[in-house]
Amino acid sequence: MEGKYFVKEHSEPIEKHEHVIFEFEDGIDLRYADVRKFGRMCLVNKDRIDEYEPVAKQGIEPIDERLTGDYIYEHFKSKRIPIKSLLLDQTIIAGLGNIYADEVAHRAKVNPLKLGIDIKRNECNRIKEAAKEIIEKAIEYGGTTIRSYTSSLGVTGKYQDYLEVHTKAGEKCPQCGTIIKKEKVGGRSTYYCPRCQK
Ligand SMILES: [Zn+2]
Repeated sequence: MEGKYFVKEHSEPIEKHEHVIFEFEDGIDLRYADVRKFGRMCLVNKDRIDEYEPVAKQGIEPIDERLTGDYIYEHFKSKRIPIKSLLLDQTIIAGLGNIYADEVAHRAKVNPLKLGIDIKRNECNRIKEAAKEIIEKAIEYGGTTIRSYTSSLGVTGKYQDYLEVHTKAGEKCPQCGTIIKKEKVGGRSTYYCPRCQK
């Protein structure tokens, strides 16, 4: 459901969903394909990129060492918003989508339905560790491909084989054997283990 980039020979036919094509002098194209057209592109002066609003507002990425448990605690502790929604807030932590937010909350043993104001400092430390581990592994395995389209090149991620809760409602938690539950939080499907994530 997401935009994807492909490297192709310029001579290859343009696929239906390839909306932006960067042509290089050596005959290679970088093609941006986006089935649902949710992607946006802007031309930005590279010397002023930090002033560009989406960049300026962006939070810290899980693999960035500036992401600490204290940072997460400071940004979560006063919010009457479910932790699941805070994990998805790109202005706090940049780069966790719906799949990884569920996996991070599970690995960190944090209940995603709880509000930010109820979070403990040690839970934030565990979120930080879990986010880093999961994103690093997901990058290594080429991301996660579930129910989205397979490209014409058959490029798919492999991290879906390592998901512990997301899309696993009715199955057993791999950590404790409890049946995984599914609820809507802020309009997003949320999967969690009611025993590991109290
Ligand atoms: Zn469990």
